[in-house]
Amino acid sequence: MERVYIDTDLLIMGGGTAGCLAAWEARRVGGPNLGITILEKAYIRHSGSLAAGQNALNMYLNQGTPEDFVCYARYDLCGGPVREDILLSVAREVNETVALMEREGLPIKKRPDGRYLNRGKWNVEINGAMLKPITARMAEKAGAEIYNRVYVTNLLKQQGRCVGAVGFGVRDGRFYVVRARAVLLTAGGCAGIYRPNNAGDAHHRIWYAPFNTGASYAMAKRLGCKMVGFECRFIPIRTKDTVAPTGTLAIGMGAPMINALGKQFMKENPKWVEWGGHSAPTPIRVQAFLVETAEHRGPCYMDTTRGDPGRVAEIKEQYVDMSPSLVLYWAANDIDPSKEPVEIDVSGPYIVGAHAAMAGAWVPKEDRMTTVAGLFVAGDALGGAPSRFISGSWTDGRIAARYAVEYLRGVEFPELDPDEVRRQEEIAFAPLTRHRQATESKSVPQPGIRPREMEERMQKIMDEYAGGRTRWYWIDETHLQIARKKINHLRRNQLQYLVAEDLHELQLAWDVINRLDVCQLVIEHLLYRRETRWPGYANRSDCPERNDAEFDCFVCSVWDPETDELTMMKEPYVQLVPGDRMKQSI
Ligand SMILES: Cc1cc2nc3c(=O)[nH]c(=O)nc-3n(C[C@H](O)[C@H](O)[C@H](O)COP(=O)(O)OP(=O)(O)OC[C@H]3O[C@@H](n4cnc5c(N)ncnc54)[C@H](O)[C@@H]3O)c2cc1C
Repeated sequence: MERVYIDTDLLIMGGGTAGCLAAWEARRVGGPNLGITILEKAYIRHSGSLAAGQNALNMYLNQGTPEDFVCYARYDLCGGPVREDILLSVAREVNETVALMEREGLPIKKRPDGRYLNRGKWNVEINGAMLKPITARMAEKAGAEIYNRVYVTNLLKQQGRCVGAVGFGVRDGRFYVVRARAVLLTAGGCAGIYRPNNAGDAHHRIWYAPFNTGASYAMAKRLGCKMVGFECRFIPIRTKDTVAPTGTLAIGMGAPMINALGKQFMKENPKWVEWGGHSAPTPIRVQAFLVETAEHRGPCYMDTTRGDPGRVAEIKEQYVDMSPSLVLYWAANDIDPSKEPVEIDVSGPYIVGAHAAMAGAWVPKEDRMTTVAGLFVAGDALGGAPSRFISGSWTDGRIAARYAVEYLRGVEFPELDPDEVRRQEEIAFAPLTRHRQATESKSVPQPGIRPREMEERMQKIMDEYAGGRTRWYWIDETHLQIARKKINHLRRNQLQYLVAEDLHELQLAWDVINRLDVCQLVIEHLLYRRETRWPGYANRSDCPERNDAEFDCFVCSVWDPETDELTMMKEPYVQLVPGDRMKQSI
């Protein structure tokens, strides 16, 4: 394959929320001569979680202190553990980042007195249809060299240090080799390891960005980074079929969740009232939904009929900024949400680090450097620190970039090992090569397993044995052991038959290769945490209680390339902000 060689000081892997702001900050602190390169598998103005637009920034300090925010974040994950050091560092800077983005053209909604229009303590409303182009412009303005449509397949390590990355051009088919003095991994979280809500052509109608397929986690794992939090899966309640966020209905229309009997179960069931009713932690709200369904009081709804009917047009506008398919669905089915409640459902599990869950690479210190020297993480790629969302991920990217620039002051350009580069090239194109060889030799009637077939097999196994939606997220040792065996069979024995007919399919092949590595992380972490800490997210029928004596800590793992096993370990929870962890702040 034709090769493209790139030398850069700072390589940013993934031009999303965190990656673009990292480029901007790196230029600010690193000066005009700093080489900044972004590799992005899609097109930077329309890629990742912000691609469809969004209508709120969920991290903003409208009132209270950074410490109060930490209290909220740990409460929202049922008392933690959470990385309080990381959350504090983001909370101290997030308002400044939002002000910066407003100056750069982000329309933030205002009250008549000029203050930001907020939904509660930690959120501001925006007109976010252009959120991604505005975010991407920050990287462009920083003068980062942006390579769109380059799919990164692996990070490179030499003498224990991350020294660059390799990938292929999804349109030009070239092999990209990047040599870097420091690398920042910002390739988002992981969708699509479990069966989606919808089948066929609608299989991408899910909540999380369907094209974020676990590259951050898989590549960090393969590089030998310590990983954290994969047993804390994110399961959101969303509108049925269209899988749009429900917060817009809850706040915009004052719509509570109700069951099929019209009862507000969060307010009426003492068990959920004890957790704060409608403002109970996210997993508890999911659990309440599941209980209503299991006890034959479903389906459940957002009761939009109680709100002001005059607000429907405004609500539709907000969805057009973020999830237009819901508005189209209402129009196509003649639905007026002020006259009938909107049915809801659960979706996922998704594996994320910056939303209401905490998977990602472990960083020993606040500097965002992983356990592999020279590799930094931000956004969904960074584990242990939930509730950073968009504005927190922007801020996180900035903080990581500052530390990365500081790190590279003392670091020389590495010499890449040509044998390793050749090996990586073979690995990157292997599914394509296999297909070509099989077709040319005509020795096999069916040339191998197609990515879509492998994906469906993986999703079926995860769904049925590792606590998917059709099992209402129940897990136990026996089922997880079967999941482990079957997923490892795919990874160890079947991947060698994965084929790709063209560059598009090669992309899909890598999506499934990465997802299978994430499956391994999820299964092993779920097996290790023998308790139910986040009911709703993962209900262990064999260990239904919380077990603080053994598991009030982070669960971490490191992959061994020789054995293909994960070594599991614990990291202590360091509580920096005093107070009752099970209580909301202020
Ligand atoms: C549907 C949805 C709704 C949300 N709603 C809200 C909300 O209302 N408010 C809020 O504050 N937060 C919301 N969030 C959360 C927030 O958007 C994320 O937490 C945040 O954007 C994560 O940023 P990131 O930089 O980690 O990932 P992303 O912004 O997703 O960036 C990842 C980038 O990496 C690229 N990439 C992936 N793999 C590769 C590869 N192999 N090679 C090269 N490039 C690669 C992707 O194309 C993408 O550009 C929402 C998220 C989603 C998905």
